[in-house]
Formats: sequence, structure tokens, C-alpha cells
Amino acid sequence: MSASLLKDILEFNQKFVEDREYEKYETTKFPKKRMVILTCMDTRLLELLPKAMNVSNGDVKLVKNAGALVSHPFGSIMRSILIAVYELQAEEVMVIAHYDCGMSGLKAEPVIESMKERGITQETIDTLIYSGIDIKQWLHGFDNVSESVEHSVGIIKNHPLMPEGVPVHGLVIDPKTGKLDLVVDGSLA
Ligand SMILES: [Zn+2]
Repeated sequence: MSASLLKDILEFNQKFVEDREYEKYETTKFPKKRMVILTCMDTRLLELLPKAMNVSNGDVKLVKNAGALVSHPFGSIMRSILIAVYELQAEEVMVIAHYDCGMSGLKAEPVIESMKERGITQETIDTLIYSGIDIKQWLHGFDNVSESVEHSVGIIKNHPLMPEGVPVHGLVIDPKTGKLDLVVDGSLA
């Protein structure tokens, strides 16, 4: 199945380039709206979120993961945000989680069970635990979306490498209507 998906994409891509469809998307790597957005990888947000925010190609830097979470202050998400601020002219940060997120209420145990059904052994899980990796904490989602946004905003705002004067906002978007609810107004901080 995945082989034909890849084939379809490559065929489409060849025509896309031949027909110069890319021309209407040409822009620079610097965000016109001087902003970096961290949001969730949810499929419903792929087009909805930019449309609901009046954001187009070239307007913002967009970072995505499962849950719009900054779970580690020195992980790749935080690094991406810092690079956007220092190297790519982003002057504000927005964390935008969403209602009905797959990471909401996600417990580690069923994920580990799925892993075992796909061939990961208990021995591997045990090895991780004995190596000091808290796999359950690592796989755990969040219980409350607003609190999760506040937590991620706090990690970004208080990061020792984040310069002064960069507002960090927190919002929650409705994945059906695109309505944004403000959780943290970073310009007041
Ligand atoms: Zn999500």
C-alpha cells in the first residue's frame, strides 16, 4: 500500500514541477509575519489552522509534533524555536494546541501494548526501564489542554537561552471551526 502511495506522490510531483506549479508559492525562508508557531501534527489542522489565522506560505515558521508539546527544554522542538528566533527573524512565539487532541488523555500502557503486538518484546521495554528511561512518562500525553499549553509556554518563556522581549503566546484551536481560544497573552508578560 505504501509503495503505491509513494509512486502516486512521485508521479504527481514530476508533473507539479514540470508545470511550474511552484511559482505561486515562491517566497523566502524569513517569515513575513515574524513569528514561529508550534502546533500539533493533527490532520485536521493541516490547512485549517493557517486559513483560520490568515497565514500563507512565507508568513511564519511552523513547528509541529504530537500535541504541540515542549516536553524537553533541550529537545529538537526547543532548538527549532530558538533557531527561528536567532537565525530566522521570528520575534514572537505561539503555542497552539487543540481540543480533541490524540495526546489528550493518552496513557502509555495501551501504546506499549500496541508495540508488543507489533513485535517489540517485554525484554526491550525492561531494558529501557533498567537503563533509566522512563518510557511511561515519555509516552504520556496530557490531561488538560490549557494546562499543557501553559506548561509549554512556561518552558519556552523561561528557557535560559531565550532572549528578553520575545512574547510567547498560548492558544487552543477548535479542530472543526478553527476558533482560537487565548490561554496566555505573552504580550502582557
Ligand atoms: Zn493533536
